[in-house]
Amino acid sequence: MGLLVVGSIGLDDIETPFDKIQSALGGSTTYIALAASYFSGPVNIVGVVGDDFGKEHINMLEEHNVGLEGLQIVEGAKTFRYGCKYHYDLNVRDSLFTHLNVFEKFNPVIPDKDKKSSFIILGNIAPNLQLNVLEQLNNPKFIVCDTMNFWIERTYDELQNVLKKVNVLIINESEARLLSKEPNLIKAAKIISEVGPQYLIIKKGEHGALLFGENTIFSAPAYPMENIYDPTGAGDAFAGGFTGYLHKNRDFSFENLKRAVIYGSIMASFCVEKFSTKGLENLSFLEIHNRFIEFRELSKFD
Ligand code: AMP
Repeated sequence: MGLLVVGSIGLDDIETPFDKIQSALGGSTTYIALAASYFSGPVNIVGVVGDDFGKEHINMLEEHNVGLEGLQIVEGAKTFRYGCKYHYDLNVRDSLFTHLNVFEKFNPVIPDKDKKSSFIILGNIAPNLQLNVLEQLNNPKFIVCDTMNFWIERTYDELQNVLKKVNVLIINESEARLLSKEPNLIKAAKIISEVGPQYLIIKKGEHGALLFGENTIFSAPAYPMENIYDPTGAGDAFAGGFTGYLHKNRDFSFENLKRAVIYGSIMASFCVEKFSTKGLENLSFLEIHNRFIEFRELSKFD
C-alpha cells in the first residue's frame, strides 16, 4: 500500500544573502512528497490550500505522481504563508511571519482509499492533528514523525502521546535538546527513545545526521556542498528521501535504515541547491545514485 504524507502546504517568501523570492511553493508536505516521489509512487498527500494556490503547483505535483485526492482547496480562503530571512551563516534564519490563513482550521480528512496506507509521514503540524490522523488510519505499518520547537514548547504533553506511537522521530539538534531538556545529544537521544520512538534521527545541518536505535548509533556524514542557495525544506526533503527509500524496498534492518539516512541526506543536498522546491523538481535517478556513490566514498576507510 501507499505512502501518505500529512502536513503544511504553503507559499513562502524567502530571503538569503544571495537572492530573494516571493510566494514560492513551500510547506512541509510539498518538500516531503517531492523527495519521496523519486523512490516510490504514488505518494498521496493530505493538506489544505486556498484558491490563491497556483494551478502550476498542482500540475507540477501531479507530474511527480503525487496523489491529490486528500488536498482540500477552500474557495475564498488564503493559503498558508511563511516568510524567513537567512543570515550569512545559512544555519541561522529569522522567521519574519507565519500567516496560518486556511491552515488555522485545518481538519485533516484521510480519503477512504488512503486509510489503509502502510507508511505515513506526519509532517510538521500540531500534535493533536497528528494523533487525529493516526486515529483515522487502519493499522499503519511504519510511522515517521517530524515536529518543531513551536510544538515542543507549546504542546509538550500531546507530543509525548504522538511519540509513543511512532516508529521514527526526525528532529534537529536544537529540537532534540529542547525535547529532552538535555544538552548532550547522546543522553538526549536516550531520554527521547525511552518515551517511545523505535528509532530517532537527529539532523545536524551541514554536519550530517545521527541515527539511534537497537542500542547502536550510526553517524552519517554530510555531503560537502559548495552551492547552498536556500536551506528551506532540507529537513522535509530528508524525511521524504528516508521514508521513500524504505517504502520502496520494505527492508527494516538497521543496515537498510542506514542507507535510508544517506538517501535522506542526498535529497536534502539537492533541495538546498536551488530556491524553493526547484532543486527537487527535475532530478534523475542516475543523479541520485551517483550522489549515493559519492557519499559512500566520502566516509570509507579501513
Ligand atoms: P523547514 O523544513 O523548517 O525548512 O521548513 C519548510 C517549510 O515549512 C516551509 O516551506 C514553510 O512553508 C513550512 N513552515 C514554516 N513554519 C511552519 C509551521 N509553523 N507549521 C507548518 N509548516 C511551517
